[in-house]
Amino acid sequence: MSIVAIQKTASDSFEDIKKAVAKVVADIGGLEDIIKPGYKVIIKPNLVATPTDRLSGGVTRWEVCMALYEMVQAIGATPILAESSACGVNTEDVIRKCGYQDLRDQGIPFINLKDKANPVCSMPMKSGTILKSFQTWELVRDADAIITVPVLKTHDQTEITLGMKNCKGLLCDPQKKEFHTKGLVDSVCDLVETLKPCLEIIDGTYGQQGLGPIYGETKKMDLIIGSKDLVACETVAGLIMGYEPEEVMITREAYKRGLGEMDLAKIEVVGKQIDEVKSRFKRTSEVEIEGMPKSCNLIFDYQACTGCHNTVISSLFDMKGEGLMDYLENMNIVVGPVRADKLPEGANAENTVTIGICAKKSVGDALGLRNAVGCPPNNATVVQAILGDRREYGTRYASKEE
Ligand code: SF4
Repeated sequence: MSIVAIQKTASDSFEDIKKAVAKVVADIGGLEDIIKPGYKVIIKPNLVATPTDRLSGGVTRWEVCMALYEMVQAIGATPILAESSACGVNTEDVIRKCGYQDLRDQGIPFINLKDKANPVCSMPMKSGTILKSFQTWELVRDADAIITVPVLKTHDQTEITLGMKNCKGLLCDPQKKEFHTKGLVDSVCDLVETLKPCLEIIDGTYGQQGLGPIYGETKKMDLIIGSKDLVACETVAGLIMGYEPEEVMITREAYKRGLGEMDLAKIEVVGKQIDEVKSRFKRTSEVEIEGMPKSCNLIFDYQACTGCHNTVISSLFDMKGEGLMDYLENMNIVVGPVRADKLPEGANAENTVTIGICAKKSVGDALGLRNAVGCPPNNATVVQAILGDRREYGTRYASKEE
């Protein structure tokens, strides 16, 4: 029987969050069976991109990671907070914005994996249904245990994104892109099978619904959810958010591979029960960006990476903030390796723009469309590509590339 524990946090204070995390860990049987004295333990938050606010529900709050850090340390193991943000995102910006720099200032190490000082290595991929090997860091390869600490949020490609998908931040950027272009769900399952995270603790204090994983609407849930069985953990978390486990491709595939339990009859839920805390999260498909003309078509290929997704949504918010939404009238915005037959009739160089090299190669070059250059491009490039010759946007945004 897999055990999943759910606790409500009493407040936003570090002390109350620590209590909730400790209770969840106690309810699933403690850490001693998975973490031994002397272990090097990676604690992996989700810092995918720079949020508007650290409590927007898009990123893991430091209090949950610190609660785990202290518990791991108390066993006599060495906890290591580590992350690499999405492709094209400066991890240091996210670390600063989300309060992790303050931890560093207090002597708690937080490793920006993308920092060139961290040696990169190749690891064979177990199962290897998509990639036979992947690039990661020696720190990840040499860890004795990995704890994945995601946020409770929706995702425009995988319905929800929790601890299994969070492991993607342990990949170097080229592989993150390959995961998207070659098959995200199978790649994530391969990675989980290879790295075998021993524990998932979900920061469900503030979640994100709608346009996740970073531009969604904040949803306060005051929850901590945890399990040593990641599939069971995500089954329960999904149900809390209003998703049947069969609807969530990563949960379903991981279960099929035997990576954990998805059958609720074989999962013991302790602490709060699902019915006591559940609250339906708005799907990405149910969201409209306020002020965006109905005649504007966003055409995302299912293989488009998080980097391109985030950049396009964030660029649309930039346009909204600067009163440029009218320029989106009758525009087609094409993202990822979209096939030509997916373009609406009448798509042409005037009304259609491709974002990133994938869309350029798949349809842009053949049809002579203008392209936002990059992999992923930065916001200014995307906005300028949408505006075309109609207006000079300038270069006030710096590149997000590290
Ligand atoms: S252009 Fe965009 S979708 Fe294509 S590989 Fe780069 S980031 Fe991914």
